[in-house]
Amino acid sequence: MRGRLWLGGNCGGGNRVMGMSIGVTGGAGYIGAHIVRLLERAGHAVVVIDDLSYGYATRAGHAELVQLDLADTAELPRLQAALDGCSAVVHVAGRKQVGESVERPAWYYQQNVGGMANLLLAMEAQGVGRLVFSSSAATYGEPSVGRVREDIDMKPINPYGESKLVGEWLARDAVRAWGLRAVNLRYFNVAGAGWDDLGDPAVLNLIPMVFQKLAAHRQPVIFGDDYPTEDGTCVRDYIHVLDIASAHMIALDYLDGDDRPFDAFNIGTGAGNSVRQVIEMIGEVTGLDVTPEIAPRRAGDPPVLIGEVERINRVFGWKADYDLRSIVDSSWRAWQASPDVGRR
Ligand code: UDP
Repeated sequence: MRGRLWLGGNCGGGNRVMGMSIGVTGGAGYIGAHIVRLLERAGHAVVVIDDLSYGYATRAGHAELVQLDLADTAELPRLQAALDGCSAVVHVAGRKQVGESVERPAWYYQQNVGGMANLLLAMEAQGVGRLVFSSSAATYGEPSVGRVREDIDMKPINPYGESKLVGEWLARDAVRAWGLRAVNLRYFNVAGAGWDDLGDPAVLNLIPMVFQKLAAHRQPVIFGDDYPTEDGTCVRDYIHVLDIASAHMIALDYLDGDDRPFDAFNIGTGAGNSVRQVIEMIGEVTGLDVTPEIAPRRAGDPPVLIGEVERINRVFGWKADYDLRSIVDSSWRAWQASPDVGRR
């Protein structure tokens, strides 16, 4: 156990300040820590529930930190105690590596689906009636359309995407069964850093993977340049982690005020950038030589994945503020500034 670990008490405990008390699972991780910081700045008391497998206790801000594995049913009493007094939960914790999910499907279901099930049991027991769930564009699979709407057929193509989709179903079923109000937010490609100390600690996605190559004085790698896209490389909707975090704040307000108890929204920009464009932007921002090496396609990569964001624009009045340059620029600053960025 590390850092300022908090084992007793609850959301409504001694640290309570103005505003609601919110539980954030995965709040010591990359995306979760951004949400925690925005919540604290808005005056909310926060309790972070995190197993610290990827997160750092130092990122949990002033929040109380309860270290536990959500998927461990033996931890249910502690989980329930942690949520005592909370008015809502933002559920970010989860496993998110597609390749790993293909190799260890049962573990992905145990972690992501089992964790969600335990969380819902604890929320029901404590009467915590609002949930914002971190879902993923991976729930869509390989859509044939350019820009994906929320209401297309969901056909995930790997256990990671499946486990997120089942998580959405669990939320829906709890809405029907005991009156939970839930919003699923389907993330597209999250990147960037809102603060230099909160960059992505993992090297699992394109931007940190390119940085790691550059740091080792090696060429960035493009996985396939023969896709049916303009420049032959895959196109994705890159969304700044601060935009992601701000969408959660609005989702919490929405659950407070709106009559509709269950919904799903894409969080993206509605625009795409190719792998080549991202690498070129990294070259511009860093001033380094980014001449790429072309490798074979990576299994399971859809050629294009872009979110249709009309719905979240209309219902939440939310749209992304940051562009690709800000994403790359903030990622690079965090990569250079923070000793725990890019190290997991
Ligand atoms: N990619 C790449 N080189 C890398 C890392 C990723 O060409 O070193 C490509 C990957 O094949 C995909 C895109 O970048 O087409 C985005 O990959 P990432 O893993 O960041 O996100 P995904 O869309 O797979 O969730």
